[in-house]
Amino acid sequence: MATQTHAENVDTVRTSPLFRQQALIDGRWRAAASGRTIAVDDPFTGETIGTIPDLDRQEAQGAIDAATRAFPDWARRPAAERGALLARWHGLIVDNRETLARLITLENGKPIREARAEIDYGASFVKFFAEEATRALGETIPPPAPGRLLRVEREPIGVCVAITPWNFPNAMLTRKLAPALAAGCTMVAKPASQTPLSALALAALAQEAGFPEGTVNVITGKASMIGELVTSSDVVRKISFTGSTEIGAWLMQASGATIKRMSLELGGNAPLLIFDDADLETAVETAMIAKFRNCGQSCIAANRIYVQAGIHDRFVAAFAARVRALKLGDGFDEDTDISALIDEAAVTKVNEHLDEAIAGGATLLAGERGSGRMMPPSLLSGVRQDALLTREETFGPLAPVIRFERYEEAIALANATPFGLASYLCSTDPQTIARASRYIESGMVGINTGLISNAAAPFGGVKQSGLGREGSHHGLEEYLNIKYLCQAGL
Ligand code: NAP
Repeated sequence: MATQTHAENVDTVRTSPLFRQQALIDGRWRAAASGRTIAVDDPFTGETIGTIPDLDRQEAQGAIDAATRAFPDWARRPAAERGALLARWHGLIVDNRETLARLITLENGKPIREARAEIDYGASFVKFFAEEATRALGETIPPPAPGRLLRVEREPIGVCVAITPWNFPNAMLTRKLAPALAAGCTMVAKPASQTPLSALALAALAQEAGFPEGTVNVITGKASMIGELVTSSDVVRKISFTGSTEIGAWLMQASGATIKRMSLELGGNAPLLIFDDADLETAVETAMIAKFRNCGQSCIAANRIYVQAGIHDRFVAAFAARVRALKLGDGFDEDTDISALIDEAAVTKVNEHLDEAIAGGATLLAGERGSGRMMPPSLLSGVRQDALLTREETFGPLAPVIRFERYEEAIALANATPFGLASYLCSTDPQTIARASRYIESGMVGINTGLISNAAAPFGGVKQSGLGREGSHHGLEEYLNIKYLCQAGL
């Protein structure tokens, strides 16, 4: 088959039945009554590829009302029935893998191979929670007095809201929606305005799978209005948010008056520590994946690469060769490794980090400054320990190497941040691995690997990286309340 041009790829996606430009509320696809829309751009060309409704407050409230009406019936259904619907939804996602992947590349810009990996990853949460639905187990407690029965039941929390970011537009939603539905909750989802189309496509497939009207709603519109509405709502019992620490902190504060459960998956500033005794090949592979996956636009991206003096020069030489071999191009091309970033502001930020590091004495060993929305994969060595890029998430394909001498110095540097999402370390010494992974302050530690996330593992951070966990049985607990029952007279 001849390779399609970018424009042909765009047309193919736009003519798919999964290309939805309306919100889903109470089982009906709707435009804004005002006719107002928000444009969605193709990051590679900057051209508008579609629009979504700019719903007003009353219309957004309609989704909360629909989820409220749908909740009692959904919560009472047998868990196995909820699981069966999730399994059907999973089957439809798998059947439409290629279309969904192309939709991600279209609205987010990421390389198509990474988009397919995101579909597989996102679908794995639906499969996992389809099975986990029947495992929301209760407990019995040995009573402290005779004639008593003490039990613990788990109940769905109620109406939940999911707010998702643009960097994984499919998987960040399935990671919330699947456990919520498995637990018996109903959901109102608000995707990022830059990448709403993947969420709408997932909702179309959920509808096809047969979820009852009102259980899955997707709304679009001004984030500030929706944020104010859902945080102040008495019936919204939980907000699950993935995005920046700044907005997460605001959501938590704004929800204070209505006391909601919160899950916050926020920003990271992951360190990668490479110790002298690391296997060189493993260290380079870890750095490549931890830094350049998703064009560096990942909350768990290795933001700071600390390399011990004894392995430093060999590591830098081998890493530079791999970085130089990465191909920058159109996300729809099968051999593209790094494609357009989400917008021009993203490239501006990476350029600022690069310029500041070079002004501080760093050397550019691969890549160059970006322009427009394209940022070449780049590598800096000789980066100062206090460079700007050690303090802020770069969120782009720029790898900074910082030299360290002693173990204690590395741990102190790794922890010198208010964030604590992921961290990585490479070593072959069991003692170093055990000590470093214990003393690093983060919710997740990758040891001799840059690929850590999967549906069966608890994903989440400590410190200002957030609260709660997604994936694993802990991810289901986020959508369940504990009810204690004490019965006397037995
Ligand atoms: P963001 O600006 O915080 O936006 C995330 C979501 O919040 C979007 O849907 C956005 O809507 C919405 N939002 C913005 N203001 C809001 C408000 N006042 N009320 C309610 N919702 C509001 O974050 P981003 O720039 O898209 O995402 C990048 C950040 O996410 C990075 O810091 C990254 O580390 C983090 N992230 C964390 C994880 C994790 O699991 N820890 C995973 C992925 C990303 P609009 O798009 O309409 O503005």
